[in-house]
Amino acid sequence: MNVTELARKVKIPTKELLDIIPQLGFDIGRKAIKINDQTAQEIIKILNNPDKREKLLNPVASQKINEQAGGLATETATPDNKSKSVEISNVVIVKELAKKMNLPVTRLILELMKNGVMASLNERIDYDTAAIIAEDLGYQPTKVESQELQLMSDSDEKLKELFKDEAKNLIPRPPVVVVMGHVDHGKTKLLDAIRSTNVVDSESGGITQHIGAYQVVENDRLITFIDTPGHEAFANMRSRGARVADIAILVVAADDGVQPQTIEAVSHIKKCGLPLVVAINKIDKPEANIDKIKSELSEIGLTPEDWGGQTTCVEISAKQKINIKGLLDTVLLVADMEKEKIVANPNRPAVGTIIETRIDAGEGPVATVLVQTGTLKSGDFIKVGSVSGRVRAMKNFIGKNVENVAPSTPAKILGLKEVPQVGEILEVLVDKKLIKKEMREGGKQYKTLPTYNVKKISEDDKKGQEKKKINLYLKADVLGSVEPILEALDKVQQDDVVINVAAQGLGNIIEADVVKADSMKAMLLGFRVQLTTAAKELAVEKNLKTETFSVIYDLVDLVKQEVDKLTSPLIIEEITGKIKVVTIFRQEKNKFIVGGKVLSGKIENKSKFKVWRGEEFLTVGLLKTLQADKQNVNEVVEGQECGLELEVKEKIETGDLLEFYHEIKKKK
Ligand code: GDP
Repeated sequence: MNVTELARKVKIPTKELLDIIPQLGFDIGRKAIKINDQTAQEIIKILNNPDKREKLLNPVASQKINEQAGGLATETATPDNKSKSVEISNVVIVKELAKKMNLPVTRLILELMKNGVMASLNERIDYDTAAIIAEDLGYQPTKVESQELQLMSDSDEKLKELFKDEAKNLIPRPPVVVVMGHVDHGKTKLLDAIRSTNVVDSESGGITQHIGAYQVVENDRLITFIDTPGHEAFANMRSRGARVADIAILVVAADDGVQPQTIEAVSHIKKCGLPLVVAINKIDKPEANIDKIKSELSEIGLTPEDWGGQTTCVEISAKQKINIKGLLDTVLLVADMEKEKIVANPNRPAVGTIIETRIDAGEGPVATVLVQTGTLKSGDFIKVGSVSGRVRAMKNFIGKNVENVAPSTPAKILGLKEVPQVGEILEVLVDKKLIKKEMREGGKQYKTLPTYNVKKISEDDKKGQEKKKINLYLKADVLGSVEPILEALDKVQQDDVVINVAAQGLGNIIEADVVKADSMKAMLLGFRVQLTTAAKELAVEKNLKTETFSVIYDLVDLVKQEVDKLTSPLIIEEITGKIKVVTIFRQEKNKFIVGGKVLSGKIENKSKFKVWRGEEFLTVGLLKTLQADKQNVNEVVEGQECGLELEVKEKIETGDLLEFYHEIKKKK
C-alpha cells in the first residue's frame, strides 16, 4: 500500500509517520512511497495501541508542530483569550469557529493542520477537534447540542451503498484530476494549455463550449480534467457527494509563492486524501524564484522530493506551454501508484456527480455529469437529488452526441426537467415501480413560473365574465427572454380580450408541456427552444396549437392574429334574390353575358352571387352590369327577365342558379 494511505489509516500526517516508522524497528527509507502490506499491518497494530501511540507520537508531533508553525503562524494565543469562553456545537464550520473566536480563518486552519486535521474554511469539524483547538488557542469551550452530525453520516451511508461493488467487477478507469491553487497563479491558463496541447487535434477545434470537464490523451492514456478551477467549486461538489477527483494539481506561481488560498487548497486536498502534484508555474517570468517556492512549500509540510521530502514538484509555464508533458507524465505516475483506487465497474447502472449546470438556449436545463461508476446510457431514467427525468440525449465535451458514457467520462445530459445542483449525485433508476413513482412526482416539480395576466387582473374583474381570453403557455430559453415577451404582449392586448399567460417554463417543448397546455386550453408557444418530435406528434393528436419562434416579433404577431380573430366582426351573408340562367349571350375569359329570370326576391346591381348547378356549389362572382329591357338598371325583382354581365371564374351554363347576397358585418 502507499505510505499516504497508511498515514490516513493511522491518522498521522505522512511526514510524521515516516519519522516514527524507524523507531518502530522498520527500515523503509525516509522517501518511501510504498510499504509492503505486512509491514503496514504491523505498524497499524502498534499505533492502535493507545499507550504506545502516545509515547511515540507526542514528542515527534510537538517537534513537528513547532517546525511547521515556524513558517506561517504569525499569532499565538494571547493572555487575553485565556479567560474567554466559546460555545461549540457537535459540528462546527471552520470559518464560523474562527469568527466565534475572533481569529483570522487562516490562523485556525493552520492550528488545525498542526494538529493533523486538514480542514478548509467551509468544512465541518466535530466538537472534540474544535474544543482541543479552542483550548490550544486559550479559549474555554462549552458544548451545545445539534443534530447535524447524524444527518451527515446518514448521507455517507447512502453514498457508500450507491457505489458498492464487488472487487472482481472493478477495472481501471482514467484518473480524474482537479487543479487548485491561489487566484491568479495560473489554474485557468494551465487547463487551457493542457486542453489545447493534448486533446486530439482534429477534435480540439470542435470544442465550442466548456462543459465542466474534458479528457486528454497522454502516452496513449486518457486523463480527465475537471475544468472548474478553484477549490470553492470543488469543495461545493465534494460537500454534497462523493469524491470527484483522484489526483490534485496544486498550482503555485513561481513569482508569488505560497498564499492563503494555497494553504486552503492543501487543506482541502489532504482532507480528501488526494495525492498531490505541485505545478510550480510561471517559470518563464524573470522574477521566478523556484528555491523560494520550495522553501515555502516545505514550511507547510510539502517538502519537495529533491529537498528530501515526499512532494512531487513539476516546474512549468502554462503561458509558454513549457513542460506540460512533464506534468501530465507525473500525473500518470501518481495514477499508477494509486491504481488500486482508480477503478470502476462499467457494467452496471451509472452513478456520477453533477459538476456543472445551466439553462441552455434551445436545450433547456442541462447538466454535466462525471460518471464515476457504471455506464450512463441514452434513454436511462435518472434521479438527481429531487430532479428526475430521462436522458434524452448526451453530448461529450467536444459537443458530439454519444449514446454511452463510461466511468471517469464527463457528458452533458439533456432531458432533466429542472436544473440540478452542482455536487448532487446522479443515479440511474432501474426499478420500474420506482421509475413510475419518480416520473409522477418529478412531473409535479416541473418548473412552472407564476401565472401572469398581461393586463392587471382587477381591471378584468371589473369588466365581468363576458371577456374573451387567450390562454398562453410560454416556454423560453432563459428567464431573461420572458420579460420582453410579456411586455410586447401587453401592447397587443385589447380591451375586450385578455391575454392570459397561464404558465411559463424554461427549456424545450416536451410531451409533458403539451399535456399541460392542453389541460389549460392554452396555446403552447416556444421562444428560442425546440419542439421535440414526440411533443409535435402529441400536439397534432390533441389538435393543440403549438409554435416556436426565434424572434419576439413573430411570436407576438401570432398572438395578435388570435386577438384579431376574437375581436374582428362576424360576416353574415343575407340572400336577396335568386336568378335562373336562361341564355348565354357571350362568354370571354372570366366574363359572361347571360339572360336570366328572377325566381325570388330582388337583384341589385354590383352585388355578389354564388353559382349553383343543381345541388353543387360552383363558385362566387360579381354582377358588373344589370339590364332590363336593354336599359341599365339598379335592380330587378321577382318575375322580371334581365340581362346580366357577370365577373366569374367558372364557366356558366344555362340552367345554373345564381344566388345573390349582401355581406353584413356583425360583432362577435
Ligand atoms: P487563475 O486565477 O489561477 O485561474 O489564473 P489565470 O490562469 O487566470 O492566470 C492569471 C494570470 O497569470 C493571467 O494573466 C495569465 O496569463 C498569467 N499566467 C498564467 N500562467 C502563466 C505563466 O506560465 N507565465 C506567465 N508569464 N504568466 C502566466
